[in-house]
Amino acid sequence: MPLLQNARFYTSAHHYRELPKPNGMEIAFAGRSNAGKSSALNTLANHNRLAFVSKQPGRTQLINLFSLDESRYLVDLPGYGYAKVPEETRKHWQKVLSRYLTERESLFGLVLVMDSRHPLTKLDCQMLDWFAPTGKPIHVLLTKSDKLSKYHANKTLEEVNETIETNWGEYITVQLFSSLKKQGIEEAEAVLGDWLYGEDEEDLIEE
Ligand code: GDP
Repeated sequence: MPLLQNARFYTSAHHYRELPKPNGMEIAFAGRSNAGKSSALNTLANHNRLAFVSKQPGRTQLINLFSLDESRYLVDLPGYGYAKVPEETRKHWQKVLSRYLTERESLFGLVLVMDSRHPLTKLDCQMLDWFAPTGKPIHVLLTKSDKLSKYHANKTLEEVNETIETNWGEYITVQLFSSLKKQGIEEAEAVLGDWLYGEDEEDLIEE
């Protein structure tokens, strides 16, 4: 059974203060709007509409929490970088994202979703700048890899790996992923499985 199959919608938040009290562990998914984050979440959770696959990037967004069990959660963070978002909205989400990434005690690790054709945008780098100093694990999904030739996909993987290693840390892992072709699922599940179930239960934050 796929690792994240039990994911169920739990709650939403528009402001940091609306998030539930930290409990157990959260794995957050972040990415530029349209990078393929919702598709990746749906693919990994084996649901068609767990995370709504957006047809209107940048629409009013929320932080959505999905529970796997009573102490493990997936967090779908609002997509960033959509040009038509009003300045005020952009600032709001920038603040919420930076606060969530730097302060949220129950946040265990970050999955950063990037379109393999346009990886490491300025805002992706900003996310790494905010989160890497926490020392918590980061896994990068280079999505839509089906849109690149095998040669270009592997070249991108190598280059992104190198840049990330040089600028943010050797422990950050990177992989190719395609929701369309269902490629990279096992690799992603191995990383997430290790994060979710590889640690001692004692490390989980008690409610
Ligand atoms: P989000 O805004 O990051 O949540 O992105 P979505 O998951 O909504 O995807 C944005 C667009 O990219 C949609 O039209 C998807 O159908 C498409 N897309 C997502 N993943 C893939 C993929 O692996 N391959 C291809 N070819 N298209 C994809």
